[in-house]
Amino acid sequence: MHEMSIAVAMVEQATEAPAAKGHEKVTAVRLRLGELAGVVADSLRFCFSLACAGTPLDGASLLIDFVPGRARCEPCGAEWATGMPPQLCCPQCEGGRTELVAGRELQITGLRHADGEPPARTAHPASVQAEES
Ligand SMILES: [Zn+2]
Repeated sequence: MHEMSIAVAMVEQATEAPAAKGHEKVTAVRLRLGELAGVVADSLRFCFSLACAGTPLDGASLLIDFVPGRARCEPCGAEWATGMPPQLCCPQCEGGRTELVAGRELQITGLRHADGEPPARTAHPASVQAEES
């Protein structure tokens, strides 16, 4: 299952992140999730809770910031919300040379720890690299 490999990669990344050093337990993970990332949020939440079991993230909640998909037309510069399923044809000139500006994000942007510190922002949000199975 796609979401399961992503959840496992997230747990590994969260436990190895510099922000996690010196903390025994992570209580929440904040994730930026693009509309077009191909991830089902409910499924990811479920897989995340399974992947967390027996790790410092056991029982951690998953906070998801959704990022709407946006595309830009290269020839005319128009920008629009792609929606889902994504509209990748320019609404102005109907051109097909389209660049995705946003919507494919899959990044851990912060961790919260049991000792009550505010969520630590990671300096450089790193994309979750899941192995395709
Ligand atoms: Zn256009």
